[in-house]
Amino acid sequence: MGRCRHLGWSTVSAERVAAILESLRERGERITTARRALVAALDGADDHRSADELATEVARLHPEIHRATIYRTLETLRRLEVVEHTHLGHGPAVYHLADQVHQHLVCEDCGAVTEVPPAAFRSLERALKRDYGFTVKSRHFAVVGVCQACSEAAVQDPPTAASPTEPQENSPGGRGLAAHRRATGPLVQS
Ligand SMILES: [Zn+2]
Ligand SMILES: [Zn+2]
Ligand SMILES: [Zn+2]
Repeated sequence: MGRCRHLGWSTVSAERVAAILESLRERGERITTARRALVAALDGADDHRSADELATEVARLHPEIHRATIYRTLETLRRLEVVEHTHLGHGPAVYHLADQVHQHLVCEDCGAVTEVPPAAFRSLERALKRDYGFTVKSRHFAVVGVCQACSEAAVQDPPTAASPTEPQENSPGGRGLAAHRRATGPLVQS
């Protein structure tokens, strides 16, 4: 639960990291230990992680890198468009590598995060541009809803009139992010 269901990215991890670093080098950027470590940490993650979680992971593997340097490097990689952040719910922004562009669907019932290609939103984006002159930045925030498994479970086992209503803390995205972050737990342990 909470793990990203990826689109079946086929790139081998080591190759992916090497390609990203090579593209930086071609742009005349230096490849520092912190930059390399952050790209590798983001590539190795099954889940997206917050800046704090990434800093903890990189600092564990590279105690010589100052934590402030890691945060600064993450911001630099964002500016260089190597890294993107997104908001899955109420918690802190989470990060992913920008080479495989995707949008996130978060289930508000079970917290599952599904990655979908941006083409899934293209007709909506076109319509909003055409009708309202509005340019949607759809990848900045996740779309919240109910996943297929939870929808099917709800049909098979409809809530009775006696069942309590959902407490307010289960507002859209809240549990999604909690579950997402819970799944990252083992990655930051030694
Ligand atoms: Zn943001
Ligand atoms: Zn993502
Ligand atoms: Zn669900």
